[in-house]
Amino acid sequence: MSFDSLGLCAELLSAISSQGYTTPTPIQSQAIPVIFEGCDLLAGAQTGTGKTAAFALPIVQMLSETTIRKKRRSPRVLVLVPTRELAAQVSKEMQNYGRRLSLRSTMIYGGVNIRAQIERLHRGVDIVVATPGRLLDHAERGTIKLSDVEFLVLDEADRMLDLGFIDDILKVVEYLPWQRQNLLFSATYSQSIKQLADELLDQPRRIEVARRNIAADAVVQAVYPVERNRKREMLSHLIRKGDWNQVLVFARTRYGADKLTDELLFDGIQAAAIHSNKSQSIRTRTLAEFKRGELRVLVATDVAARGLDIERLPHVVNYELPQVPEDYVHRIGRTGRAGEDGVALSLVCPEEQQRLLAIEKLLEYTIPRQMIAEFPQIAVKRGRKSQAKTSKKGKGPSKPKKKPAQQKKQAPAKKRTPAKPTTSRRGKVEAAKVAPKLGRRLSRTKPRS
Ligand code: AMP
Repeated sequence: MSFDSLGLCAELLSAISSQGYTTPTPIQSQAIPVIFEGCDLLAGAQTGTGKTAAFALPIVQMLSETTIRKKRRSPRVLVLVPTRELAAQVSKEMQNYGRRLSLRSTMIYGGVNIRAQIERLHRGVDIVVATPGRLLDHAERGTIKLSDVEFLVLDEADRMLDLGFIDDILKVVEYLPWQRQNLLFSATYSQSIKQLADELLDQPRRIEVARRNIAADAVVQAVYPVERNRKREMLSHLIRKGDWNQVLVFARTRYGADKLTDELLFDGIQAAAIHSNKSQSIRTRTLAEFKRGELRVLVATDVAARGLDIERLPHVVNYELPQVPEDYVHRIGRTGRAGEDGVALSLVCPEEQQRLLAIEKLLEYTIPRQMIAEFPQIAVKRGRKSQAKTSKKGKGPSKPKKKPAQQKKQAPAKKRTPAKPTTSRRGKVEAAKVAPKLGRRLSRTKPRS
């Protein structure tokens, strides 16, 4: 399939070709026609699949086809995202396509002064990409008018629920008009996502694309067993020996990220940390330096890394395994993007054994173990019989032979089934807590008077 056959206008086709995209990704070829038809959409797609363009292109085109002449523009598209970084990424794409059709877009997120955002909104915009908390703040202050919204997009909806945004989302939705097109994108289908979809979407069309992030073809994975107190030494060794120049390293906590950054700097490796305790201007600057290749190592926490879009990131290292297995998939999705190969390594100490097993259970795949001659061999058990041979000592990871299973097809969602509580994690909303909130009728069925 080509972009030409998707019914996109000449301006957008030219924008696409100047991005260097030649063929639509699976989510693009499936979602664009559905969105053009005006249907609600429930899409199972992760970051890295091309989902942003999948919703941005048709929305921008439809918006430009129905220009509304008004004294001052008020938003007709609202995209809700979990993090500032994802807001920046989505907004950039919206701007890139929108400006060719004379549409204005803006970004709204917390942690920065609200004044500039109010002024921008006052001047008039067509598209708003926002994190839920700050958007609600604007809605409650009356500094944004949401009654003209025609398209609502929930991007990375699962992550928004993980981060505890359910209340804010539900409150924001009450400011929206009843008549609108809703698109929900989520990497996973938990019970809470199904309930959110049941309430917000009207007879949605469902699309699910493969979890390309764990496809063996795109990402080479390996586990390096190591004592906890030698992890930092091993990381420096891998970076130096492998002559890696652009490495994204995941730490579990903000404190851990800062500490590791200091240690790498001490080892003479240029590094910086990015996490939610850093100001937005520092985060933006650090990310820009990393993208330009001026920073060798970026140490990030899961929340900060969400939505990072860095072209052709060659190396991702799990310095500590995440507590939630799905986060592993999100993390390694930062590499092997847009058709490029990538390497995702995990430094695993014996204390992390259970986490590793949970990840391998989710992947339905045993990640090959690797050894480095300079580090003593230690035991980190295998969950299942390994499906891939390990490569020779110190030669780096081998490509897994067997493709991990793709995301299972989801059974049709049952209405109002009691939710199973999710694993407890700071900031994570339990499904059981979400369910009653979703039980109340939203603006789709009860318009705001
Ligand atoms: P997303 O899933 O929207 O985060 O997109 C992930 C990456 O895929 C971004 O770096 C995009 O630039 C890239 N991308 C999106 N669509 C295409 C396409 N049709 N062909 C190649 N790369 C693409």
